Amino acid sequence: MTYAIGLTGGIGSGKTTVANLFATHGIAIIDTDAIAHSITAPGGAAMPAIRREFGDAFVAPDGSLDRARMREAVFTDDAAKARLEAITHPLIRTECERAAAEADGPYLIFVVPLLVESGTWRARVQRVLVVDCTEETQIARVMSRNRFSREQVQAIMARQATRAQRLAEADDVIDNDAQHAPLEPQVDRLHAAYLRLATQEKGGESA
Ligand code: ATP
Repeated sequence: MTYAIGLTGGIGSGKTTVANLFATHGIAIIDTDAIAHSITAPGGAAMPAIRREFGDAFVAPDGSLDRARMREAVFTDDAAKARLEAITHPLIRTECERAAAEADGPYLIFVVPLLVESGTWRARVQRVLVVDCTEETQIARVMSRNRFSREQVQAIMARQATRAQRLAEADDVIDNDAQHAPLEPQVDRLHAAYLRLATQEKGGESA
């Protein structure tokens, strides 16, 4: 199986930005958020079960998930969230494995925003790479990107792992507080390390 990195980080930490830099090295990026979106798009694999479980009211006229309505329904209702995840998580995992089997390259990266929270991803990846920045930086970025209030961003962050919990799970860390740490050299250095590790592992497998 291809050597796999799990890339994670809190909201607005810069996961997509960092993943795009690895992609410039020709590394396959498998983004669980993008897959979650595609299975709930019109005709998406999750839509029949979502319609059955939650009803027509949660399906937009074009057959996609009514995201605003679902977000509201699950934000404070853990049971509804669990019902939704029981539908989506197995489909996301299947799609990730399909994409991983098709991926070319010496190693691949799964982008998993809730890797630390999920409990099941850790065993699937050889290394966990955390994109880290201060909470203030996260808040400022998401406020400006999403036009959210400070309170809205903080409410989302309160439902995610803390910065310390995430760092405790990290094998590797990218510092993405832009003022003092340019990303490219950090990505280049890790890319070189991952190439070495993936090659070693491959050698070990065939030995
Ligand atoms: P989410 O979890 O919300 O999807 P993310 O972790 O994928 O976010 P990005 O989308 O990469 O984070 O970055 C969040 C925002 O911050 C974007 O608008 C991005 O352009 C900006 N950003 C990320 N890193 C930097 C940086 N080093 N310098 C300036 N802006 C940055």
